[in-house]
Amino acid sequence: MIPQTKIIATVGPACLMPDILQKLVAAGVTIFRLNCSHIGPSDLPTVFKLVRELEAPEPFRTISVFLDLPGPKFRINQPEKPINLKESDEVTLKISSDKSAPTSLHLSALPNLTFLKEASKIVMDDGKIVLQVLQLVSDIEVKVTVIKGGEIKSRKGIDFVDATPPVPDITESDLVFLDLAKQLKPDAIAISFVRSAEQVRKIKRMLGQDAPLIISKIERREALDQIEEIVDESDGIMVARGDLALSLPLEKTPKVQRRLIELANDKAKFVIIATQMLSSMVTNPIPTRAEVTDVYHAVSQGADCVMLSDETAVGAHPVEAVSVMKKIIVEASSEFNFDNYKTRLKSLGTTSISDATAYAAAAACFKLGTKALVCCTTSGYSVRLVSRYRPAAPILGFTREPEVARKINFYWGANSVVANFAATSDREERDRAFNEIVYKLSLTPGDRVIILGGLQTFKIGSTSILEIREVE
Ligand code: PEP
Repeated sequence: MIPQTKIIATVGPACLMPDILQKLVAAGVTIFRLNCSHIGPSDLPTVFKLVRELEAPEPFRTISVFLDLPGPKFRINQPEKPINLKESDEVTLKISSDKSAPTSLHLSALPNLTFLKEASKIVMDDGKIVLQVLQLVSDIEVKVTVIKGGEIKSRKGIDFVDATPPVPDITESDLVFLDLAKQLKPDAIAISFVRSAEQVRKIKRMLGQDAPLIISKIERREALDQIEEIVDESDGIMVARGDLALSLPLEKTPKVQRRLIELANDKAKFVIIATQMLSSMVTNPIPTRAEVTDVYHAVSQGADCVMLSDETAVGAHPVEAVSVMKKIIVEASSEFNFDNYKTRLKSLGTTSISDATAYAAAAACFKLGTKALVCCTTSGYSVRLVSRYRPAAPILGFTREPEVARKINFYWGANSVVANFAATSDREERDRAFNEIVYKLSLTPGDRVIILGGLQTFKIGSTSILEIREVE
């Protein structure tokens, strides 16, 4: 059984072998993340192919893949040997590729450091090291003092907590991956460090028609300032808690997570909760109690997907991490408070026929205890609308396009059946969908199924028919 909240696994050396990838799928993964910060453009096609090949023709085994663009992540460009920084040490940060001066830390990919001010905070290695600016020495050099020390290794990330570096909306390396995406055709693309809705629009324009789904990673304070518009412009969002917690006071991240989940649910956009969900499983075979509670809460709050990062990319127990995550999801889903969820959806006043049909279908599911809610869909739109109402039966997208089936996979509770025929009328389409579902789910007499369709078969956004059928 595929859990209602989907499991995303990040691909990395710990799982990049066909047998391990197969085991991850068997344990419950339906979506893979290829993190372009760690997979170079020359390796990406091979890794992509390996993951695509996991998709089996057997029923309900749709596997989706998305590319996570690097975005403007700054890294320390440091020498071979790690450097140890102690509290109160004074060092220089410099934009330069010359690594010979031992007392300087070298940065790349930034035009200047003039955006920094005296007392600006700089964090390195996910907050393990904290520096504070003492003085701007020149446009490309600042003197800093060490607030929290530690060992600096080359290529570790660096974040500017209270200052915004001057960066283009689309970086050079993002452009390379976007070009590759046009050939590879991933199901979604995640944009890192989104700052504005315009940035999302630019990337969508570049991808053109038949574009993958767009996931905006919310990990900067600036994104929160125009979050409604960013969510409207995106197909889904990722609460990228790793960098988000560097950009905000740490204790504010749970509230922001809850707010982002609610906003995405309201707008019928999917929401992914990411980072450190089962972090201790990178080394340990079992998670901490706190991690179990974190995953449980993300599911209870209404997440569409939960994501594993290092746990599956570089961890010692990738398959176990997925198995544990699935067990927590199943438990949390069995106790999901549908009444609370529905009362907090803000925009229940529907404005479209499709949305009203989706709402009625979800309500009928609760009343009748139907075995499935089938959406005959061309683009996946009706699945998205239905998923928002969290019906009490599996949602099945019945579509002719495998590409659409893979996109449907990102939405809560939704799976797909790929139809291998072209119906000539809406009636025929619903009949075929019903027969196929009865067969695939081994339904028996008395079982009920809801089928959604449109009068204008294959016209996007035309869902207006709700049919309730009983197996004879
Ligand atoms: C994060 O910051 O939480 C995140 C998912 O982004 P990345 O892993 O790309 O740094």
